[in-house]
Amino acid sequence: MLPIEQFYPNLSNPFKAVITCHQKPDGDAMGSTLGLYHFLKSLGHEVVVISPTNWAQFLDWMPGVENVIDFEANKTSSIQIVNDADYIFCLDFNILHRTKHLAPIIAASKAVKILVDHHQQPDTPSFEYGISDVQMSSTCEMIYDFIVQSGHINLINIDIATCLYTGLMTDTGSFRFPSTTASVHKIVAHFKELGLKHAKIHEHIYDQGSEARLKFMGNAFLNRMQVFPECNAAMMAIPKTDIYKFDLKTGDTEGLVNYLLSIQGIKLAAIVIDREEERKWSFRSKGNFDVNIFARNHFEGGGHANAAGGRSSKSVDETAQDFKNILIEYKTQLTQ
Ligand code: 5GP
Ligand code: MN
Repeated sequence: MLPIEQFYPNLSNPFKAVITCHQKPDGDAMGSTLGLYHFLKSLGHEVVVISPTNWAQFLDWMPGVENVIDFEANKTSSIQIVNDADYIFCLDFNILHRTKHLAPIIAASKAVKILVDHHQQPDTPSFEYGISDVQMSSTCEMIYDFIVQSGHINLINIDIATCLYTGLMTDTGSFRFPSTTASVHKIVAHFKELGLKHAKIHEHIYDQGSEARLKFMGNAFLNRMQVFPECNAAMMAIPKTDIYKFDLKTGDTEGLVNYLLSIQGIKLAAIVIDREEERKWSFRSKGNFDVNIFARNHFEGGGHANAAGGRSSKSVDETAQDFKNILIEYKTQLTQ
């Protein structure tokens, strides 16, 4: 993978680009793809954003989101667009299988692939150019740097600022995680000078839930949560019946795992959700317990040191029991 700086000269020649991100895009995935979309459009390029799957309704207000193609709902046209592209920008993931059924299409395309990402252990041979930096708060921060370092700070407008702020905010837990550096705050200061309406963005992201979602969360805390104080850990297992009963939509469980870390002393939080195709795990930690390694070793996943995900093809009860068995092995590490 060549350094991203070597790609910058190509920005001056017209091209066709696809921008994509991981399945079920979150605020950082959608924010970075749309931020880059607005930037490349302003340079006059032909740009299409393709999401591997649908996304949470709380992202549906974002500038440009109306032009994003959901691959699963538009397979034939998406494949055509990917095959016609000169470049494919791959944002907020670093291994092609994170794009689910889009992965073989990207792998087979002749387009030059460019990676911008902040997760652990990138699969660099899959990309011709790129930057992978786990120190970065968010992919949105990296897209900001991409625009500035390629000499286009003057093109950052309110749409780009709005999109990039969204990922900065969501990936830093609203500017509270240790990844929130001085650079992050300087970027936000720049966006505020451009007229960013940050309170509106917080409302769009965090205050769009349904009444049923809050009832689901109440039920989850009351009936689905297990705390293991002897291991400084907490877990929730969400059965499919809850998803139907409370009519959950994509994104409705996002952030739930973080609440487990608000219990005094808890260093490891885990939640497993019984989705259609698989059981999806989310892991969060505080301090030096590395959930990227934990998810990789036990649940076919990965991510960051303090936030990772994984999966299992077992039943929700079986995989929850696996977690509890595995937890005992980490008791010393979690309590020292
Ligand atoms: P979440 O728990 O919010 O779904 O994901 C937490 C972090 O881990 C995100 O940065 C996400 O991209 C990453 N992640 C989630 N699931 C997986 C997975 O199955 N594999 C890998 N490599 N990363 C994941
Ligand atoms: Mn991210």
